[in-house]
Amino acid sequence: MPGTNNTMMQYFEWYLPSDSTLWNKLTKDALHLENIGITHLWLPPAYKGAGGKYDVGYGVYDLYDLGEFDQKGSIATKYGTKDEYLNSIRILHENNLKVLADVVLNHKMGADETEDVLAVIDDYNDRNVSLSDEAIPIKVWTKYNFYGRNNCYSDFKWNWTHFHGIDWDENTGKSAIYKFYGKHWDEDVDKENGNFDYLMGADVDLNNFDVVRELKKWGKWYLEITNVDGFRLDAVKHIRSEFFPEWLAELRNTSDKKLYAVGEYWSANIDVINKYIEKTEGCMALFDVPLHYNFFRASISNGEFNMSQIFDGTIVGTNPEKAVTFVDNHDTEPGQALESWVLDWFKPLAYSLILLRKDGFPCVFYGDYYGIPEKDVSSKNNILDILLKVRKYFAYGEQHDYFYDRNRIGFTRLGDYDHPDSGLAVVMSDAEGGCIHMNVGKRLANTVFYDVTGNLSETVYVDSEGNGIFYCNGGSVSVWIKQGKSVN
Ligand code: CA
Repeated sequence: MPGTNNTMMQYFEWYLPSDSTLWNKLTKDALHLENIGITHLWLPPAYKGAGGKYDVGYGVYDLYDLGEFDQKGSIATKYGTKDEYLNSIRILHENNLKVLADVVLNHKMGADETEDVLAVIDDYNDRNVSLSDEAIPIKVWTKYNFYGRNNCYSDFKWNWTHFHGIDWDENTGKSAIYKFYGKHWDEDVDKENGNFDYLMGADVDLNNFDVVRELKKWGKWYLEITNVDGFRLDAVKHIRSEFFPEWLAELRNTSDKKLYAVGEYWSANIDVINKYIEKTEGCMALFDVPLHYNFFRASISNGEFNMSQIFDGTIVGTNPEKAVTFVDNHDTEPGQALESWVLDWFKPLAYSLILLRKDGFPCVFYGDYYGIPEKDVSSKNNILDILLKVRKYFAYGEQHDYFYDRNRIGFTRLGDYDHPDSGLAVVMSDAEGGCIHMNVGKRLANTVFYDVTGNLSETVYVDSEGNGIFYCNGGSVSVWIKQGKSVN
């Protein structure tokens, strides 16, 4: 159908079993994913992590081992083998689904050997301050030889000169921020902790010429081998801001694809985020972290959140072209580093706000769609299937907002000619229920609307001017479309 809305799914959560079956599961799921309205899949890091098949993927060991070599205790990664990964991408493409690969270039972990180096210790809370007057000798895990891969695809061997620093001295068994002698943290990074270049593991020196050349070579290799359509870029606030514009330009120049990219800049400060978008010349979109935190706060505020401000200070509210909107992810889920889980009752409201509006590229979280058994989080696929279908068939055309009340807000989409009977009305409240007078446009005049969520069984008459009185229950959302239209 013409101009169908794009919808991303993050196809993993932190606690998936370490049984190397995700790629095969995804292959079997491809047709279903297309049917429910997914157009893009963000897949987890596909290369070998330090934890082998137990590694979620962010503890990168070998970028060239996509589950092909016997390294870190297994051939397969947590998600399967290289062949299964490539097959899955092929099947996804056959089902008109695009694939975004997770790219983790900030750090490496699980080195093969140690090296003796000199380093200074920096203050954890202010990395611009050194705690040691002079360099001290330490022993660090920085030599990567990839014996199991035996120079296949690349003979690049990493050593301490390719890193800025590390957090572990093998001599003393002490953890600290060790900056290697003669190295400096890149300045054009996030200013949290004074300088947030260092995040974890061995911090990759992305100013080192050999490193940059190798990572460009790897990117081209990855594109050629996997045929992915774009990238999700990990931990961009810990990487100098000039790096990815250069890296992406190089890959885009050599590819006939647009190579969509979305970065993870984990900050709730919209000024910092918009500054980064400016500095990186719009080469990537960013996950709307401020919007996630608005959802989280609204969900834990017992109706006290001012819903008319739900988009205040967000990327989608200030820089909509660059916003990938999401409700939760693998880091915000229960038990994880950035835990800030949007409570169950608010999930349908939050998903309505990312899936049914004009702005933002929404990303549905695997843990919301399929549940998180490890944490007793139930699947929300029933309501998500409904909202995804409404997005696919009805969420088109001009948008009118009715954000006048601190509890009850609403918006309408007037539909367009390309999508028959499209258009909708959404009303939600984080406190008491009620109604809002809204206009759905003349195209839908003199019709009857019903609440496709099933929360309300009454119907609404839309008059000759397109006006109607649309309701919702307390702490709930109702999504109204033209009667007679099914989303099943
Ligand atoms: Ca870094």
